[in-house]
Amino acid sequence: MSNAILVAGSANLDFVVRAAHVPAPGETVLGREFATFPGGKGANQAVACARAGGATTRMLLALGEDPYAAPLEASLRGAGVELHVVRTRETATGTAFICLADDAENAITVAPGANALLRAEHLPPLAGVSHLLLQLETPIDTVTAYAVAARAAGVTVVLNAAPARELPTALLDALDVLIVNEGELATITTGLRGRIAEALTHLAVPCVIVTLGARGACARARGEFHLRAAYRVRPVDTTGAGDTFCGAFTAASCQGSDLPDALAFASAAGALATTRLGAQTGVPARDEVEKFRRAQTAIADDDALRQLAAYCGLENRSV
Ligand code: ADP
Repeated sequence: MSNAILVAGSANLDFVVRAAHVPAPGETVLGREFATFPGGKGANQAVACARAGGATTRMLLALGEDPYAAPLEASLRGAGVELHVVRTRETATGTAFICLADDAENAITVAPGANALLRAEHLPPLAGVSHLLLQLETPIDTVTAYAVAARAAGVTVVLNAAPARELPTALLDALDVLIVNEGELATITTGLRGRIAEALTHLAVPCVIVTLGARGACARARGEFHLRAAYRVRPVDTTGAGDTFCGAFTAASCQGSDLPDALAFASAAGALATTRLGAQTGVPARDEVEKFRRAQTAIADDDALRQLAAYCGLENRSV
């Protein structure tokens, strides 16, 4: 079968404390309950791909030899992800410290640990892989090397450029799809003034998608724009929304969905993820996403679409 997705990236154990608000610099906030959740953008996105079904999902990741690694492996395997683990004694498994506020905002500090040790030579053979999904929680040279190797092997390369940083040209040139949120788009296109649509046009990647939280998402593929207003939900934890969107989008594309349909599927998965706690535990399965989409079709929200178009600077264009 040649439609496997390979996710290469980070896995972190998330230490989550709920609090009334996210602390300002220098402030101490007394939080409430504490819990650990499997996380890391790479692992979250691998779980989202696997739960979306339809293709084999594999993940390349680096873990320490410590108790933090076990829950990460268990969560990935539990979702059906096949693992290529680089095991190290040099440093701890990646961890993330998350303050989750009552208004669903969050503040996150990541200690990359083993994730920082992923190297170009760790990339497994790409036979049977149709899509490679990357993020930026592993070293940028490694990410670039993986993208270049995959591009040369005819694999579709999808990058979620998070956390935000400027991208080397060699990486941008190797991408088929770039997915960013608004802050990440601003970082990648620094110096460029103008609306979202102009920023998307400025990037030379064949397909660029910007996710806009509760507003929805906007994509530019070649010269054409596609808008997707967000589904209406009551969010409790937005931590995994972007990762769920990226994994669900890649899985849908891998199964042959066209861009509008993959955007709709990913938006529904992202919206559902915000209604549940935890980055991986919150990822919905394909049948839940389909059921949710069917229930939503009655609410054709023209106003939301118009507002999204205006926000992106597309009010006068046909989309
Ligand atoms: P990130 O977490 O990377 O900042 P976003 O917040 O843009 O990503 O969320 C990714 C996608 O998830 C959005 O494009 C949207 O489809 C969905 N989503 C996120 N937040 C909400 C929300 N509050 N209501 C509905 N959908 C949401």
